[in-house]
Amino acid sequence: MRAHPAGPRHADVLPHDPIYAPPADLARLEPAIWPQGAARNADGELTLAGTAISQLVDTHSTPLVVLDEQDFRDRARDYAQAFDGADVFYAGKAFLCKAVARWVAQEGLHLDVCTGGELAVALAAGFDPSRLALHGNNKSVAELRQALEVGVGRIVIDSMNELDRLDALCAEMGVTAHVLIRITVGVEAHTHEFIATAHEDQKFGFSLANGAADAAIARAVNSAHLHLLGVHSHIGSQIFDTAGFEVSAHRMVQLLAQVAKDHQIELEELDLGGGLGIAYVAGDKPAQVRDIAESLRLIVRRECELAGIAVPRLSVEPGRALIGPAGVTLYEVGTVKPVELGNGMTRTYVSVDGGISDNIRTALYDADYTCIVANRVSQAPAVLSRVVGKHCESGDVVVKDVWLPGDVRPGDVLAVAATGAYCRSMASNYNHVPRPAVVAIKDGHSQVVVRRETLDDLLRLDVG
Ligand SMILES: *Cc1c(COP(=O)(O)O)cnc(C)c1O
Repeated sequence: MRAHPAGPRHADVLPHDPIYAPPADLARLEPAIWPQGAARNADGELTLAGTAISQLVDTHSTPLVVLDEQDFRDRARDYAQAFDGADVFYAGKAFLCKAVARWVAQEGLHLDVCTGGELAVALAAGFDPSRLALHGNNKSVAELRQALEVGVGRIVIDSMNELDRLDALCAEMGVTAHVLIRITVGVEAHTHEFIATAHEDQKFGFSLANGAADAAIARAVNSAHLHLLGVHSHIGSQIFDTAGFEVSAHRMVQLLAQVAKDHQIELEELDLGGGLGIAYVAGDKPAQVRDIAESLRLIVRRECELAGIAVPRLSVEPGRALIGPAGVTLYEVGTVKPVELGNGMTRTYVSVDGGISDNIRTALYDADYTCIVANRVSQAPAVLSRVVGKHCESGDVVVKDVWLPGDVRPGDVLAVAATGAYCRSMASNYNHVPRPAVVAIKDGHSQVVVRRETLDDLLRLDVG
């Protein structure tokens, strides 16, 4: 590939590049990528949990985020089973609304929130506050106060300022806060590779390397108002194998052993965070939750034995792995434009009625997605396509490269897979485009769980 000044996604496509070979069957729904309830009906139309997408589009319009409720629930159950004896916190930042908070509660999971806004959604859903953890590197006094008032089960402390702030608030309110200290362990993990370093150059947590972690733990241990439950680490996102978790678990148990020696206390809890990856495109093969659970347990047990300390209660915080694969975004095609690339190849730009405002991940992280024409099956030869949005940005790309049938046309419905996590939750109103509705489907029934934003909603904020 040759570089392009606008970035890697604009690099030249070369005809001999093997990744640009069309798949054998354009209509195929790769099971690892699509929700469990995805199928094609006799007309070739996509159905989700028994509902034809034409019906969803007629009722709810596009763009539309569709959540396969059973898919989410089954993944939550798999996690709960694999981590039996540990606590599973769903990371609400991946996507949170009241319905999802209720599913999380019904499946017996705990819930992570990291702002007053996420806390408000959890409370509005009736989520048991004692099963919440509050994260964030800059929680306000108001957020901390509310967490203490409603009885949030765990507050994950990220800085010395926060330690002081929380300590003072507890003294003033006459309460004890149950806290974890967030540690940065010097592991940076993404997809296929991880880097283990001796230092951390990022905003979260207390570094193991420079004594920051020790100082925070000592400060919490010596506070009359804080009950230190344990330590927390989160090493990254969209991780495909267990190696990074293993290094992090090793370092965290070393820390627990050091705490036992320095302070004569054995901390009860060890939270190893989230980050397990999912399949976005063909060929993605994330680790199985069972394998991750097994390997983490083994490491923690072995390291604790070596260090001569009791095995702490483990917790994990999956976000993407639970909600990502359950989500599909439906768009209507508005324009189709073939563009000559000057090397004998053509790229077909397919514009849809959403874009960077409902899925910023492609622009932000150079993320890969795949999509299909969802309203019909076509025998037309495949064309190399790029799905773009309606925003005034050339980086407004939803799917960088995908083979679509050559007769893709205005009015077709495209379904983009694996958009349940970090899409609607990161949505914006850029270009004053209202944010899409979210519909949950189960057993052939669809239910709006977040309604579509309207122009009235947008104008209501603009007080002139
Ligand atoms: C983002 C985040 C998670 C969830 O990450 P996923 O990659 O969605 O699993 C868990 N814990 C913390 C502290 C996070 O910041």
